[in-house]
Amino acid sequence: MTKIDDFQKFVFTSSEAYNEWSKACSFHRGRDKNHSCGNQKACEKRLRIAHSLELAHRGWI
Ligand SMILES: [Zn+2]
Repeated sequence: MTKIDDFQKFVFTSSEAYNEWSKACSFHRGRDKNHSCGNQKACEKRLRIAHSLELAHRGWI
């Protein structure tokens, strides 16, 4: 299974997954490593949700 860390390289086929991912901050999206995240738990949850939505969309789970 793809690790959450690999997410930055992930290409979304699910727009739902992309929407969820796009709500995470720029640090968690890997766009800005200097950004200080204000809500790490919420971001990690979003990435997890996006991940499972994407896998479900691809029919992998
Ligand atoms: Zn964050």
